[in-house]
Amino acid sequence: MAMNLFYPEYEVIRNKDKCTNCKICQNECANEVHNYNEKLRIMTDDSMKCVNCHRCVATCPTKALKIIKADYTFKQNSNWTKSTIEEIYKQSSSGGVLLSSMGNPNDYPVYWDKILINASQVTNPPIDSLREPMETKVFLGKKSNTIRRDANGKLITKLEPQLEISAPIIFAAMSYGSISYNAHEALAKASEQLGILYNTGEGGLHNKLYKYGRNTIVQVASGRFGVYKDYLEAGAAIEIKIGQGAKPGIGGHLPGSKIVGDISETRMIPEGSSAISPAPHHDIYSIEDLRQLIYSLKEATEYKKPIIVKVAAVHNIAAIASGIARSGADIIAIDGFRGGTGAAPTRIRDNVGIPIELALASVDQRLREEGIRGNISIIAGGSIRNSADIIKAIALGADAVYIATAALISLGCHLCRSCHMGKCNWGIATQQPELVKRLDSNDGCTKLYNLITAWKNEIKEMMGGMGINSIEALKGNRLMLRGIGLNEKELEILGIKHAGE
Ligand code: SF4
Ligand code: SF4
Repeated sequence: MAMNLFYPEYEVIRNKDKCTNCKICQNECANEVHNYNEKLRIMTDDSMKCVNCHRCVATCPTKALKIIKADYTFKQNSNWTKSTIEEIYKQSSSGGVLLSSMGNPNDYPVYWDKILINASQVTNPPIDSLREPMETKVFLGKKSNTIRRDANGKLITKLEPQLEISAPIIFAAMSYGSISYNAHEALAKASEQLGILYNTGEGGLHNKLYKYGRNTIVQVASGRFGVYKDYLEAGAAIEIKIGQGAKPGIGGHLPGSKIVGDISETRMIPEGSSAISPAPHHDIYSIEDLRQLIYSLKEATEYKKPIIVKVAAVHNIAAIASGIARSGADIIAIDGFRGGTGAAPTRIRDNVGIPIELALASVDQRLREEGIRGNISIIAGGSIRNSADIIKAIALGADAVYIATAALISLGCHLCRSCHMGKCNWGIATQQPELVKRLDSNDGCTKLYNLITAWKNEIKEMMGGMGINSIEALKGNRLMLRGIGLNEKELEILGIKHAGE
């Protein structure tokens, strides 16, 4: 048998004076790291299996545990780094494609952190957001160029369907199957309470969640899992998923072992059969084909629902967006290369796609230049981490943002990046019933509600500081932004001046 050449990534440190051998860590760790040795009457651990999810650290009643990064000293250099060497060991042992979860962790520029927000001083004074009305509500969908009324003042312009949300924030697509039912239910309940939306992802809609339809975006992906008339009618909007930031250009695969019970029923595929989403939609090879699907979905839902087309941020995103805006879509969702995923090939996640900041700015600019910006709303996603990122995204041209990783973190995710293993100790990215029940959907809903409420308040405060009292007035207002440490080309694409100018 070939010898494994890789070592544990983390080390479990147990304070023997504090450990009472209560075995809680053994019960809490689905990765079977901890084990009670009956003979020696001590807890032992297999660090090799640890993913640093912190479940045992958080639940240990005497706080006897800590997890540290193992410090095996590889003879690395800046070309052959420790992780590059380890990945080769892994692949030479398994012969397989490396899989990862969550977003691209590599050291590419995070443009949000190189953009600064303006504040009013003296003239055009700030607005006191605690005392003055601040409008965070937005409407997503095609806007009419003219509004016509009859002699009695009655509106005669036919308005396109709009999504009304209380803040420019939407929970991004995460399918039932990639995350647990309880996580989905928490997202649905919080969306209802907040007056925003969540997104089914490509796994269909669990029948118990149909009641949250007004706050649901139902997705139609290349696998078409769970898609039928009632599903399309249940949602407030329909999203055609063409691409995803974490894995542009490839499809998805949920192994047959995870297609059980409710998941098989919701996806409408037999138990045990793998859910393969092909890389392309097999009926879309041009903008005209996309238009056909958009109008089929509009026809099926009596033109009452906005249609979103979601694409990954790739090199020629501005031209792609222009085509989508002309295809009849009401909203385009652009997902940057830091966007999360339940599972993606590591090489693709870490090397394919472009940052959302650059993609968003170039799309907004192109649509304005072509005079079609009003034809379509833009949702930007792919690692929106806080309310300041949202302000910057809106000022760069977004109508709203998608958040997913931040939402999961508020549910307890510790970013161990092991979702693809299906053993999430926090009950989020798992279908194992004993793990799923660790996440209480009411508690999760409260946390999501608090997070978005806090962000909403911060958004109001920052807008007030800028002397702006509505998201609409901030949208595409790049004068409110300045770059720091960016070169001429980056500033040109972002359409902003450098700090000090
Ligand atoms: S995988 Fe998580 S629960 Fe298990 S030992 Fe590591 S940190 Fe603790
Ligand atoms: S969802 Fe769970 S498995 Fe995935 S990164 Fe978060 S804690 Fe880890």
